[in-house]
Amino acid sequence: MGRALLSYAAMDEVASSAHPDPVAVVDDLRFDAHHDGSGHHPECPERLAAAREGLSLGLGQAARHAVPPREITAGELARVHSPHYVARLQARLGNGYGQLGPDTYFSPGTREAAWLAAGGVVDMAQGLVAGTYKRGVALLRPPGHHAVPAASMGFCLLNNVALAASAALAQGLTRVAIVDWDVHHGNGTQDMFYQDANVLFTSLHQYPFYPGTGAPSEIGCDGGTGYTANLALPADSGPETYGAAFREVVLPMLRQYQPELVLVSAGFDAHQRDPLASMNLDRQTYGALASSLLDLVDSLGHGRIGFVLEGGYDLYALSDSVQEVARAMLGTRTELPFGRLHSRERQAIEHTRQHLAPHWELPLS
Ligand SMILES: [Zn+2]
Repeated sequence: MGRALLSYAAMDEVASSAHPDPVAVVDDLRFDAHHDGSGHHPECPERLAAAREGLSLGLGQAARHAVPPREITAGELARVHSPHYVARLQARLGNGYGQLGPDTYFSPGTREAAWLAAGGVVDMAQGLVAGTYKRGVALLRPPGHHAVPAASMGFCLLNNVALAASAALAQGLTRVAIVDWDVHHGNGTQDMFYQDANVLFTSLHQYPFYPGTGAPSEIGCDGGTGYTANLALPADSGPETYGAAFREVVLPMLRQYQPELVLVSAGFDAHQRDPLASMNLDRQTYGALASSLLDLVDSLGHGRIGFVLEGGYDLYALSDSVQEVARAMLGTRTELPFGRLHSRERQAIEHTRQHLAPHWELPLS
């Protein structure tokens, strides 16, 4: 333990001079006005307080480029959501507290929070594309990756990361990668780009689990065939499984795809402390996953990456894990975990490799 801490500290010193660039940060206290009124829902404003604390500890004195949120426009929303859904949602959100579905609530501040969150992350993506900054982090509520084109779902109203990706495409990019490491399958994001080779979507998630989608056989369709990858991992998967999934599937695909921008649906509910799921990650694993993606975008020559908050329902785990991602953004490097996998975890990765083998070269690590 002592040795690990020592090497950690040594790497930090290298870090502070390696990346003097400011980190773009999207955040706004108005996101906190989205709450269920009872204080008992897991998707609560305290989550953002925890994430802010982690970001602050991780970034320390490093320069930040504040991206002030503004409301997303109807035209930007129409890139991934049906205008009919947006109109219905907007009308519904005008009325106090209520439910949009079994687990998706709204409050008087929800409409403004959702529209600001989506507008903020769109601006962050546009700043990344324009080269205003190379790294960004968006601390958003409500989260987004379950929201499908014409419905809210799973605590999500507007699909923030999909809106960011579509904004980058509108600016002229043709290859955007989304890596979704939230413990739940990013079904909404997958739906929006399932037929689209301009967005490479990879998701690592507990399976079977909510929302039920994300089987390895789901690899995209039509012109998007091969541009969706689902790592459907069994409950109890730990750091070594995520390490192998990254080395054998996610990173090789990204290297071959050569994305002009990487966006991360960064949920932290695969942490072993999370109350909603059953995975076994720790804070260092999140630092390692972030490190590998930061190295990848640097190796591509542009360094453009944005982390977008999704789930994560244990406040300590959320704070610690965001802190690790922030440190990685400043240059601290944590190696991907390596270790022997249980047979069912090895099989899960093999299923994904088999389905994608016709489209990508995916070596065993
Ligand atoms: Zn989640």
